[in-house]
Amino acid sequence: REKSTVPPPAKYGGRHTVTLIPGDGIGPELLNHVRELFRFSCVPVDFEVVNVCSATEDDINNAITAIRRNGVALKGNIETLHTLPASHKSRNNLLRTTLDLYANVMHCKSLPGVQTRHNNIDIMIIRENTEGEYSSLEHESVSGVVECLKIITRTNSLRIAEYAFKLAREKGRKRVTAVHKAVQTDLGPGPGLVPGANYGRDYAVFETATRNTGKSIADRNIANPTAMLLASCMMLDHLKLYDYATMIRNAVLTTMNETQLHTADIGGQGTTSEVVQAIMRNIQSKGPLTSEL
Ligand code: ADP
Ligand code: MG
Repeated sequence: REKSTVPPPAKYGGRHTVTLIPGDGIGPELLNHVRELFRFSCVPVDFEVVNVCSATEDDINNAITAIRRNGVALKGNIETLHTLPASHKSRNNLLRTTLDLYANVMHCKSLPGVQTRHNNIDIMIIRENTEGEYSSLEHESVSGVVECLKIITRTNSLRIAEYAFKLAREKGRKRVTAVHKAVQTDLGPGPGLVPGANYGRDYAVFETATRNTGKSIADRNIANPTAMLLASCMMLDHLKLYDYATMIRNAVLTTMNETQLHTADIGGQGTTSEVVQAIMRNIQSKGPLTSEL
């Protein structure tokens, strides 16, 4: 396999620089909470904020350049304007395909204190992120008739299969099951709870697993911050800041289980900021991190 020619993630004076794309809907408010929590926890990460507006090409190119420079990004979902012509490509998709972030990884695991349809779920879903419908080859052949080319190549099918087996081995899993999209929909996460990651050979981008904008609940302080906070923990693991990742992840899960302070989507009455404040109190009660300082 070709050796990476891309420099390692930006890291100066023991600090990392990560590209932050607020996105639309609830993205900006959730990412503000991540920044607040990182500051509070003295996480050695600086964010380079790149705003992407769906309408122009420049923004997404700037975001892609920033990720090439920093190696790592945390993002909200960027709205795809369906009022634009069929040739308009999803910015989220453009970012993933341009950076060849071929492996989408989400870990669907039952959360303590949250009622769900099935118990004891612990499934890692690895999805090919650049082909099939993600080829984004759509055209209107005659007025009102849209065709979509679903490209699947042998090379990239093998690449994602190898990725899944390698990850399974690393995580001590015994079995890899191949499923098609319809089955994956059934197994998939609900919004607000599950984090997701997009990995390629050279870059990594973290976001919520469901990649939704939550436009209808934006700016109302009611969105569940869990998925985005756990995505930021996946990002910290990727930066090998394991102690910080564990500290924040434990605080998120403990708060969810012990205080029962939940947002409305999982049956509670808490606001987004009340949940984040409870997480901070939990972190404070554990005292500062010492092993990485
Ligand atoms: P919309 O189409 O209204 O923009 P989405 O497709 O983004 O909504 O999300 C689907 C549903 O999930 C909506 O009802 C939205 O309110 C809900 N939802 C999405 N993200 C979250 C979240 N973080 N917390 C709570 N509810 C959410
Ligand atoms: Mg929707």
